[in-house]
Order: sequence, then structure tokens, then C-alpha cells
Amino acid sequence: MCGIVGCIGKNHGREYIISGLKTLDYRGYDSAGIAFSKNNSIEVYKDAGSVEHLDSLIPEKEDGKVIIGHTRWATHGKPNKTNSHPHFSYDQEFVIVHNGIVENIGELKEFLSKKGIKFVSDTDTEAIASLIAFEYKNEKDVLKAIRKSMEQIHGSYAIGLIHRGEDRLYVMKNASPLIIGLGDGFNLIASDASPMIEFTNKFIELEDKEYGFIDATDFSLFDMHGRAVSKELISKNADLIRHDLNGYEHFMLKEIEEIPSVISRLVNHYASDGEYKFDKELIKKIKGADHIIFLACGTSYHASLVGGRYFESLLGIPTTSYIASEWAFHPMLPGKKPFIIFISQSGETADLIHCLKIVKKSNHDTLIITNTNGSTLDRGCKYSLNVQAGVEVSVASTKAYSAQVALLLLLVGAVKEDPSIVKDIMGSLPIIDFIKKDKKQIIKAVATQIKDHKSLFYIGRGYDYFLSMEASLKLKEISYIHSEAIAGGELKHGPIALIEQGTPVIVFITDKVTAASMRSNIEEVKSRGANVFVISTKELSKNTDTIVIKDYPSYISSIIVSSVAFYLAYFTSLLKGYNVDKPRNLAKSVTVE
Ligand code: GLU
Repeated sequence: MCGIVGCIGKNHGREYIISGLKTLDYRGYDSAGIAFSKNNSIEVYKDAGSVEHLDSLIPEKEDGKVIIGHTRWATHGKPNKTNSHPHFSYDQEFVIVHNGIVENIGELKEFLSKKGIKFVSDTDTEAIASLIAFEYKNEKDVLKAIRKSMEQIHGSYAIGLIHRGEDRLYVMKNASPLIIGLGDGFNLIASDASPMIEFTNKFIELEDKEYGFIDATDFSLFDMHGRAVSKELISKNADLIRHDLNGYEHFMLKEIEEIPSVISRLVNHYASDGEYKFDKELIKKIKGADHIIFLACGTSYHASLVGGRYFESLLGIPTTSYIASEWAFHPMLPGKKPFIIFISQSGETADLIHCLKIVKKSNHDTLIITNTNGSTLDRGCKYSLNVQAGVEVSVASTKAYSAQVALLLLLVGAVKEDPSIVKDIMGSLPIIDFIKKDKKQIIKAVATQIKDHKSLFYIGRGYDYFLSMEASLKLKEISYIHSEAIAGGELKHGPIALIEQGTPVIVFITDKVTAASMRSNIEEVKSRGANVFVISTKELSKNTDTIVIKDYPSYISSIIVSSVAFYLAYFTSLLKGYNVDKPRNLAKSVTVE
């Protein structure tokens, strides 16, 4: 959540910061701000609202030698001008932008208050700035003041900090991402590489508990003992980082339509020439496990349910999928030799980072399935597999979900040493394409029929139930229609009481084993007045079904039919006139618990 960009020595620095903040806006935010530092002066502009609004507040001529910009996703205090970043320290000598959340903020504020320090905002961030200023008074050395402050701050932070009168941009990081980009005569920082890729291909990733500074020509980083740390340069694949609309009206639509290319890139990466390319040790570890534990949230949790079914039905290994935020407060590791799989597209999901800390107290092997190399979970887990989806900008995840499911299936294929799985996954591509070419109009027609309802239901069984959960979440996220996914067999145990005349019920029937039971469920809800829309595969279809898709092996339905669910959510949101890519209250990467 939220974004940081900063630069030093860059010509047109202001433009870089504004366009960088826009590039990062997919992460979600409610306020934005910039500090310009030049010689002894620091000018701050900030407000609740968009980066465009912020830009309009800044005088045309404004620029600086050292500049930091921020988009905020409020955790402490309302989204308003005062709480927006950057924040000054109590003595106005430091100015700070911060991504993350300070856990012991009460303690720190009390400590500073006792020293007579007052706060103008409700944020935890302002207290960090004032703590550093306070320590600086004793230490007379910014780096030492930062280190002493870091010893006292518990929680997550990626920070850009300017000290009045200095041509340096200070940085510090723990459990929130921060990257340095090295330019020619200038240097940059940002929350991820995407705003910097136009200007450099040389990156340095800060590790947790590292701090230091950049100036226009160099950088220095230190550990918590004050020792300089040497860092390796990392280059990034521009294709996987860059994001633009490429002629599409919305990122979500573009990303849904990228699904076939993402899946073929994934297959090419992990199973080219019909041979699985996973790390042999990883495969051995999975084979030796007596239980697979998934930890995930939201859409990734839904992918884990599908993945769990793959492990169970194709390999016979029992699995349990846990919602990370629940598991963290009641950690359970079933089995004697569990293997733990984390799924997080950003690799920064705070709930999962919390779980990883708990898992690390045991000696069990961990794998992260992520879309973000270099992220906290990527670095923290023993094994890491990238879903190769490229940057996903739309807050509602689409291609990353399909890629997570496809990757889990490939992994199971590798453990099973079964090449037919690769063939089946590749076989999904023309069918997804067929949905794109032939079914969009009818999906839009369904969207027209559901858009004005307050509440609706998705039902399915087996894989179709997992798909219903994801379909329902997607619709909720961007169309703000209350929607629930119900396992077909559960209807009669309660939810059917909610069916009224005209209630929309969307039904998935793509599995032979459960098709007959689903048809009975349809009768049950129809006789209570439901307006039913059936999405089925040809072999299992009836001529009254709304959308009929070509046949395929039913276990890959989540990869294929998810496209129908994504289009439906997209068109519904569009018809309601909502901001498809940036739904209210949601952020792309959920870096707070
Ligand atoms: N905790 C800080 C605040 O509430 C930073 C939130 C963020 O990551 O944007 O202002």
C-alpha cells in the first residue's frame, strides 16, 4: 500500500516524482504529498485526494535538489491534509515520508511527549520524524540518530528522509519495500522499480533493518551495528515491470486479456520443451512432505483452495488452506513433515509476513508463490516461484490469480512427473481466447441484468465452488454489490432462505461429477423465484444455459472460467460508472495487518 518516490540530483525531478507517484498509484492511496529541498529551504505540498490534485497545488516553477513524494493509505488518522505525508519533525529540521505502520506508537509518543514534544498530526509517521530529530540533538550525526531510532521503532517502515541543508536523501527500511535506482549523475528511490525503469536499469534493494543515504553520485548503506554493507546491483526485466494501458480503457480489461500470454510465459518458464524446470530439491521436499499448508489472503487464498485440491486429488498429499490473518493468531502446523506454501502477488502482504515470522520459529521448509521478485516474502522464504504475470495494476487481481492457479498445477505436474498436465494447461489458451472473442457480449448482457441488484449469489461445487468464491469476491470488490459464494450442497442448510423473487443466482457447472447435483440446486432456487444464470461446458450444458464454453478437462476450470467471472465483474462495475481499476477502500498490496 502507498508509494514512495524520491530523487537527488535529477533534472526535472518534480516531473519524475509526479509521474512516479502516478505509476505507483495502483498500490492504492487516499492522499499525496511532496517535499522539495534546496539549500536551506524545504517546501511541502500535500493534501487528501489524487496526485493530479497535488500537482495542481504546486507552483509551476517549484523544484528541488532533493525531492521526496508519497501516496498515503491511512493507518493512523483520517486521510486529510494534516495527516498527509511528508511530515516535519517537531523542530522542522527533518522531513519524512513513510510507508508502513509503527506498532509501538503509543510508547514512542508517550516518550516524546514527556520530552515536551508536540504532534500536529495523528500519524505514527510524524513521531518517527520527531524521534530522529530528538536523537540527532544528542548524537549530532544523522546516521547514528537513524540507527538509534530504528532500535526503538517496532513495526514496518520504508522511509525517505531529508535533513535541512544537506544534499542527501536518507533511507531506512523494515518489512516494507524500498529500492534505490542508480542513475548517471542522479539517484532515485521508490517502493518498487516501476517508476525508475525509464531512467536506469541498476537497482539496489534494501534489506530489512538497513539504513543509509543516497547522494547524486553514490549510495551508502549500513546494518544495525553501524557497519557498511556491500550490496549487489540488480537489474530488472523491463517487460515484467513496465505498465501502460496499451490502448485499453482500463488496466483490468487489459490484464484479463493478457491471461493467455501470461500462462504461456509461465509454461515456457517452468516447463519448456515438455520438461519441468523446477528446482529438483524443491520437488524432493514436496514429495517428502506429509501435509501441504497454504497461507494466503483474498484472491490468493482462493487460488490456494484450487491448488490444495490439485495436491490432494493428483498427488494424494493432504492439504490445509488457512486465511493468513486467522492462522497468525492460532498457528497450527498439521502433519509431521509439513511443507508450507505462502501465496502473495505482492510478496509484501503484512498478514503473511506475520505468519512467516511464526513459521520461521520451526524448521519447516517454506515456498512463496509471488509476482514480485525481491519482495519481503520472496527473500524470506526458502524457495520462491514467480508467477510471471508482469505488473498487475488493477487493484482487483485477475491475471495474477490465473497464473497462481496455473503455477500450482505445474508444480503438482512436476511432482507427479506427468507431462499431460502441461498439455492440458496449454489447451486452455484457445478456450480463454474463445471466451474473449465470442462471449463478451453475452457476459455484458448478464452484467446489465445484475447491476442494479443489491445482493446476489454464486453457486458451484468442487472446483466450481472455489471459482464461485473468486467470482464473488471480484464482483464485490469493484461493483460494490453484496455477493456470496455458496457450495451447492450448503444452500439448503441456510442460504436458500435469502432467495427471493428475482434474486440473481450465477451457477457454474463445469464438472461432470457434480453437474447433476447442481441441476437440482438450480431447480431449488428457481422454485423460490431466483433469476438463474448458468455458465456451463458444452458436454454438461442445457439449451437454457446462459453461457456455454467449449469442453476441457474439468480440473482446469479455474484457469478458464475465471475469465468469465472477471469480465462479468468488469462490465458490472463499468456499467455502474465506478472506477474499475481503483475501487474504494481497497489497496493493491496490503502492507498493513
Ligand atoms: N502509517 C502511516 C500513516 O498512517 C503510513 C501509511 C502508509 O503506508 O501510507 O500515515
